[in-house]
Amino acid sequence: MFALTQFPLPYAPDALMPYISADTISTHHGKHVATYIKNLNELINDTEYESMPLDEIIIKSKKDENAQKIFNNAAQVYNHDFFFHGMCPNCDADVPQEIAQAFGSVENFKEQFKLSATSLFGSGYTWLVRDGDELKIINMQNADTPIAHNMKPILTLDVWEHSYYLDYKNRRADFVDAFLDNLVDWNFVAENLK
Ligand code: MN
Repeated sequence: MFALTQFPLPYAPDALMPYISADTISTHHGKHVATYIKNLNELINDTEYESMPLDEIIIKSKKDENAQKIFNNAAQVYNHDFFFHGMCPNCDADVPQEIAQAFGSVENFKEQFKLSATSLFGSGYTWLVRDGDELKIINMQNADTPIAHNMKPILTLDVWEHSYYLDYKNRRADFVDAFLDNLVDWNFVAENLK
């Protein structure tokens, strides 16, 4: 059986402390993401999706109303890979110029991203995407993902409660601030802007 494997965590589980605890990272990556991978491999076994790369599974299953479980699990694997790789311990890279240009200033970008992330109702992700020629901040519900809508992902923040509840309880805004001010890997963002 062809099987997708879980992407390794790009840093130690305690590397993002004090902003995200080792317990949160271990549970998030080691339990939640591991379950999405396991479910996905079971769901695609002996189907037309079995030998496709992850992005093709996502794009094709999005349009197939009988494959919504496959879409949800595949998109969650993709989204978490993107989320975890968008953070780094002790990051000190500058915010790319293009962000400041597109949003007026770095502060405006952070304010707009925070407003979006704190107003997302329920579970989902706040994304910075390139849509055509334009950089946009958008919210997507549940597992939905920009590549299923022909948009290029640049950065994402997981605002499902499992992403922050152990550390921040109901204080999602504090989690968003910690992410924007201390955790974003701006080198990763710069690579995605190319
Ligand atoms: Mn998550």
